[in-house]
Amino acid sequence: MTEHAEHASKAEHTAPAEHPGSDSGPPGDAGAGQLLPALPEHGVQRVLCVVAHPDDMEYGASAAVAAWTAAGISVTYLLLTRGEAGMAQDPRTVAPLRAREQRHACDIVGVHDLRILEHPDGMLEATLGLRRDIARVVRQVRPDLVLTTNFDLEAYGTINQADHRAAGISAVDGTRDAANPWVFRELREQEGLEPWTARALLVVGHPDPTHAKGVDDDEVQAAVDSLSAHEAYLEHVTGHPAPSAFIPEILRAGGAAAGTAHAVTMRVTDLGGLGGSDPDEDLV
Ligand SMILES: [Zn+2]
Repeated sequence: MTEHAEHASKAEHTAPAEHPGSDSGPPGDAGAGQLLPALPEHGVQRVLCVVAHPDDMEYGASAAVAAWTAAGISVTYLLLTRGEAGMAQDPRTVAPLRAREQRHACDIVGVHDLRILEHPDGMLEATLGLRRDIARVVRQVRPDLVLTTNFDLEAYGTINQADHRAAGISAVDGTRDAANPWVFRELREQEGLEPWTARALLVVGHPDPTHAKGVDDDEVQAAVDSLSAHEAYLEHVTGHPAPSAFIPEILRAGGAAAGTAHAVTMRVTDLGGLGGSDPDEDLV
């Protein structure tokens, strides 16, 4: 272990509060005495989740994924890095190890399509190249919904990790780019990928959510198990509580905001596919 590696890993991966999905804060709407409406998802067939690292989906969001896949919806994970700088061991050892653990986590929540890019962990930049890589996968997968994690400067009770900020904003921009035939023209001209417009963007771990996706007890357990699948990684993180000790709590808080037992809360941006202004109205 080099001093630098130890410092980097501790700085970036010390506590679950620093991870996407955890500690999303008091929901604004619920704070005003209103319950969050259910995410409109009638007719949704495919969801694409874009995150920075192995394990970023496993801090609550994977409960929603378990619910989607149980309903027959196809979910793809796009990880922008291999998470190779997240542990004490040499990145060459860590990258395949974390891919294996992510594969196991995906199996638990029914995700068959796991894609891992090789942007540098800990040094992810919101570049045009990253946006093109995301736009490419959006055009390949043709998702109805694109999900990413909170990319605010301050999030999860602290300063949000640099990769999380770059990943989230690039997921938003890359999703829009995918719909524009005049942006990254080479995707169509050289790769035959036609423009694709997702219906909506979902940001989980957001302090001001607009919607919630209710999840049942099995899906809560799947979320716990999917985080537990990152066995070596969790062992590495100093003082990391057992997933069963806090994942249900996060989902219970989401449920309280939505009037259900458990839920994943999210801020939803309509990209033209949500039906009307009535939040209860289904996607059309
Ligand atoms: Zn992360």
